[in-house]
Amino acid sequence: MRVSNLFTKTSKNIPSGEIAKNAQLLIRAGYISKVMSGVYIYAPLGLRVLEKIKQIIREEMNSVGGQELIMSSIQKKETWNITGRWDDEVVDMWFKSKLKDGTDIGFAWSHEEAIIEMLKDFLASYKDLPINVYQFQTKFRNELRSKSGIMRGREFVMKDMYSCSINQKQHDQFYKDTIEAYNRVFERLGLKDDTYMTFASGGAFTQFSHEFQTICEAGEDTIYIHKGKNIAINEDVMDDENLGKLGVNRDELEKVKTAEVGNIFNFGTKKSEDTDFSFTNSDGKKQFVYFGSYGIGVTRLMGVIVEKFSDEKGLVWPENISPYKIYLLRIGGDEATSHAEKLYGELTDKGFEVLYDDRDIHPGQKFADSELLGMPYRVTVSDRMLENNQYELVERKNGQKSVLTHDELLAKLG
Ligand code: ATP
Ligand code: MG
Repeated sequence: MRVSNLFTKTSKNIPSGEIAKNAQLLIRAGYISKVMSGVYIYAPLGLRVLEKIKQIIREEMNSVGGQELIMSSIQKKETWNITGRWDDEVVDMWFKSKLKDGTDIGFAWSHEEAIIEMLKDFLASYKDLPINVYQFQTKFRNELRSKSGIMRGREFVMKDMYSCSINQKQHDQFYKDTIEAYNRVFERLGLKDDTYMTFASGGAFTQFSHEFQTICEAGEDTIYIHKGKNIAINEDVMDDENLGKLGVNRDELEKVKTAEVGNIFNFGTKKSEDTDFSFTNSDGKKQFVYFGSYGIGVTRLMGVIVEKFSDEKGLVWPENISPYKIYLLRIGGDEATSHAEKLYGELTDKGFEVLYDDRDIHPGQKFADSELLGMPYRVTVSDRMLENNQYELVERKNGQKSVLTHDELLAKLG
């Protein structure tokens, strides 16, 4: 991709009214664009990051047997009436509207009830189980406050997976497998060491739900962690009784600010009983489905990664989710230009993802933009270095510089 072809532009100015670092940087770099508080557009660079995060999650959900689908954003009142969750007193973040004929509709803030309703059409006997499905979809939530940039949207992308199992054993195994899949997701995103599976409220069947909380100053949650035992508990459920159950003492715990990047729920058969979600077992008897629900905040994760890895100069992307691997930049006259063009073609042909700054602007501006945009490697082609047939390579995350020949450059980039 040529920078001259990107329709987005970088800006030095902090967007007015935007207090979250993640949104400030992403807007200044042209990755996202703000519509209103909590509502953002993903421009081409931002979309590439989002798609790469999704792909990592997708691979891991597939690895535990998840099947991808996409539910509707428009939902029926009846779907939610069955559990009482259509009521604004029960769920206070609904966006609702009406059809022309007056029929109530809601914009999906979750798909739990909707998935069950849909699967009822397909599940008849024990032979149909297990069923594990997931999607990436926009959720709509009329959040009271939305000051955390893309970490708290009124419209945001969530990965939600649902498991339907035949018995407790199958259910527990899938729940366990999914925890491991989540750990692999956070490891691949470079967040493993700072992400804790945390005991939290919201357990319907078991006492707790499990949240995945990533240490982050800009997060809105507070948890207490025991590093040695790798145990974490949300402050919302922290009392002596629960601490006793987890076998930890208050004074051994460290208090940290975190962002909830995932939340998984083990419903047992509770939710299926509430919604009459059942199948015929091998004895011909009616049995309720063991149900689980597994969320990851995809756009929130992108915000957390920006918060944690960026520096005073701009964004710093981990290599596997960076929109491009290389920022290629040229300084100088005709020779540098023709050489950079050739190198751009060669790198692209070899399969590298390259963002090529082909603009005729001041070099200082190019360097500043390369740092704001945050690709992991910057390759500079200049008249001066070409005299020795060399290029400069700079790593974004640590500023490490090396001067390399053509072959050394290719070897280094892998
Ligand atoms: P929170 O406590 O932050 O409001 P939640 O517990 O209501 O989140 P869940 O219903 O558990 O959220 O949704 C699953 C995941 O979706 C969360 O773990 C979080 O990562 C993400 N998420 C929830 N609300 C938002 C939002 N408004 N913007 C972006 N991501 C969100
Ligand atoms: Mg939650």
